Amino acid sequence: MYIDGEWVRSSSGQEFGAVNPATGEEFDRVPKGNDEDVKAAVDAAATAQKAWRDTPAAQRADYVLKAGLLIRETLDAVAKVDVINVGKPIKEARREVGNAATAAIYFSGLARRMYSNVVDSEQPKKFTMTVRRPVGIVGVITPWNDPASLGMWGIAPALVTGNTVVFKPASNSAVISAELVKVYEKVGLPKGVLNMVTGGGGEVGEALIRNRKVGLTVFTGESSTGRHIAEVNAPMFRKQVMELGGKNALIVADDAEISVAVHAALYASFSSAGQKCTAASRIIVEKGIVDKFSRAFAEGASKLVVGNGLREDVEVGPVVSRSQQKKSLEYIESGTLDGAVLLSGGGVYEDPERKRGYFVKPTVFGSVTNDMKIARDEIFGPVTSIIPAKSVDEAIEIANDTEYGLSSAIYTKDIGNMFKAINGIDAGMTFVNQGTVGPEVGAPFGGVKSSGFGRELGDEAIEHFTEKKTVFIDYSYSDRPWYFTPSS
Ligand code: NDP
Repeated sequence: MYIDGEWVRSSSGQEFGAVNPATGEEFDRVPKGNDEDVKAAVDAAATAQKAWRDTPAAQRADYVLKAGLLIRETLDAVAKVDVINVGKPIKEARREVGNAATAAIYFSGLARRMYSNVVDSEQPKKFTMTVRRPVGIVGVITPWNDPASLGMWGIAPALVTGNTVVFKPASNSAVISAELVKVYEKVGLPKGVLNMVTGGGGEVGEALIRNRKVGLTVFTGESSTGRHIAEVNAPMFRKQVMELGGKNALIVADDAEISVAVHAALYASFSSAGQKCTAASRIIVEKGIVDKFSRAFAEGASKLVVGNGLREDVEVGPVVSRSQQKKSLEYIESGTLDGAVLLSGGGVYEDPERKRGYFVKPTVFGSVTNDMKIARDEIFGPVTSIIPAKSVDEAIEIANDTEYGLSSAIYTKDIGNMFKAINGIDAGMTFVNQGTVGPEVGAPFGGVKSSGFGRELGDEAIEHFTEKKTVFIDYSYSDRPWYFTPSS
C-alpha cells in the first residue's frame, strides 16, 4: 500500500495472496488494509490537497504526462505483470497498458483546456465569471478486468484537475494496480497526492466510501456494488461517477459482410475471456443469415487459441478466479437447461496445463431467446448467445430489452439501418461496423440505465472532477440601488 509517499504494510500486518489465474499458483503477497489504513490515506490526501490545488495545472499535468510516457517506455514489463495478475493474453495486455499510457497523455493535455466562462454582467462595471476548483479528494475504486487502463482513467484526470486521490484497486488486480502508483512515484509526484490502499471491498472500499472527507467517488464495477455505493453517497450529496455492468448487443443485419462481422464478434465476445463491461454477450442476427453466421461464429470460437497469456500465440486466457470460472460454468448449465443450443465450447479443459488454471472454453449458444437467463444476466465470462431476429427493428427492440445500456454495435452497409441503431438503441455507445469494444480516450465513455451514469474520458471528464464557482466582481466602488442606505 502507498500512503503519504511511503510503501507500507497494513497496520494489522495482515496480507492476502495474489494468484496467477493461468496456473492457480500464488505469485505475490498483498497487504490487507483496514479502516485505520484508509483513514491514514485520506488524511494524507487531505494534507497534500492545498499545495497540489495551488500548483499550476500545467505543472500538475507534467507529472501525468511523464507517467504516461514512462508507462510507454516500460510497456512490456508492465504488460507481463498484467498477464500474471489477471490472466489476459500478452498482446491484449500490451494494448490495455498502452491505453493507460494514452489516457495519461491525453489528460495531461486537458490541463490547458480547462476552460471556464465569462458571463456578460447585467450591471455596469461588474465582471461575472466562473472558475473551476477541484472537488478535493477523489476515491477511485476499480475492478480487475482492465486494471491498468481503468485505474488511469480515474487517477489521471483527478490529478490534472487538482484533486488528490485515494485509490482502492480490486483485490484480484492489486499487483498490477500498484504498477501505476510506482510510475507516479518514479516521476516524483509529491507525497500524499496519490495514495493506494489494498484490501477487500467490504472493509477498505466501505471505509473509503464512508469517509466524509472524500468529495467524489469514481467507481467502476458491478451494478449491484454501484447501487450500494450510490446509497451511501446520497445522504452526503457526494458527487459520483458510476461505470457499471453491461449486457451488450451486437446486431448483424442481413446485408452485413459476414466474415468481417464474425471476426469482430469473436473479439468482442472473447477478448479478456469475455470479462469486459463492453463485451458482446448477445449477438442478434437477422434471420436471413443467422444459420450461416452461427456456423462461422461457432467454428471461429472453437479455433481460438486458449492458454497461458504469456505465450504470444494465445488469444484467450483464463478467467480471473476460481469463482468466476464457477459462475461461467453455472451459466453454461443454465443455457442448456433453458433450451439454448450449444454450438461450441461449454466446459473446462482436461489437459494438465489448463486444468490447473481457471480456463473456460469459449462457449457459443444458438437459438437463444431474450428471456433466457444467459441473455439477461451479465455473465462476465467467455459465454455468448446468438439471438435470431426477424428484422433490424426487432433486433433493436431485443437489444433494448435489458436493464443495462452500456455499449452496442451494428454490422450493416445500409445507412438507414445504421441510423436506426444510432437513434434507437438505449446505450451510452453504439459502434457501427465495429464490435462493442474499443473506446477512444478523446471520446466520452459510459452507460445509461443500470450501466451507470456520468462519463469518463473525453473533455466531459473534467466536469466530474471540478466544481464551477461563480464569481461576481463589482469594480464601480459605488452603492448599487439595492443597498441599504446608511442611517444618518
Ligand atoms: P465489483 O463490483 O465486485 O468490484 C469493483 C470494486 O469495488 C473492487 O475494487 C471491489 O473490491 C470494490 N468493492 C466491492 N464491494 C465494495 C463496497 N461495499 N464498497 C466499496 N467498494 C467495494 O466488480 P468486479 O471487480 O467483479 O468487476 C466486474 C464488474 O465491473 C462487471 O460488472 C463489469 O461490467 C464492471 N465494469 C464496468 C466498466 C464500465 O466502465 N462500465 C468497465 C469494467 C468493468 P474487491 O475487489 O476487494 O472486492
